[in-house]
Amino acid sequence: MNGPEIHIEFAPALHLFVDHTRRRGATPVVTDGASSLGHVVESLGVPLTEVGGLAVDGRDVPASHVPRAEERVQVRAVERPQHVPGAPLRFLLDVHLGTLARRLRLLGVDTAYESTDIGDAALAARSAAEKRVLLSRDRGLLRRRELWAGAFVYSTRPDDQLRDVLDRFRPELRPWTRCSACNGLLRQATKDEVADQLEHGTRRTYDVFAQCRECGRAYWKGAHHDQLQAIVDEAMSIRAQLG
Ligand SMILES: [Zn+2]
Repeated sequence: MNGPEIHIEFAPALHLFVDHTRRRGATPVVTDGASSLGHVVESLGVPLTEVGGLAVDGRDVPASHVPRAEERVQVRAVERPQHVPGAPLRFLLDVHLGTLARRLRLLGVDTAYESTDIGDAALAARSAAEKRVLLSRDRGLLRRRELWAGAFVYSTRPDDQLRDVLDRFRPELRPWTRCSACNGLLRQATKDEVADQLEHGTRRTYDVFAQCRECGRAYWKGAHHDQLQAIVDEAMSIRAQLG
């Protein structure tokens, strides 16, 4: 590029996306004189889903602003909690976030997830069609224009991923109301209704069941219950602290 030079400063929360030489104050960028500021920011590695606002010489500008020579640009991080207007809060997770998807469903958060890789275009189209916030660690995916909304997941560890999503979006939690397999809503079920899914020992030991309204899967407080309850308890406590 060989056009106007601008100076650009990234908020500390965005530093992990940019080259280490851009992590201290405003640094020069030579632009092409035609690209939008949003494009320039993306080309430096920052997904726009993580940008809370852009300012030029102290004045807010849209991502479509075309920078002119000598402008001083500040890139702010997205605010927490982040309010996503236009639809009830619901998520779509990419193929690498299966554990996070199951945990969000366990907590009753509406979470779509496909265990097979349907491709970036199909994921972005689903985000748009169903007005779901796409969660991903893939910056390329988060750059897709069709996305309704998106968010970068900062950690590779499911515990931290869940904490991050709870902190950023503050979703309402309704534990034990959704199917962790398909995201369908659960209803109470009698033992007879789910009998064909129970082994003899389970049939003898348990009396309280739930069943998914979508896929029919039966749920009861079986062997893994304590482990799941611990995840629920911790999430509820984090959520309560966040207010
Ligand atoms: Zn189900």
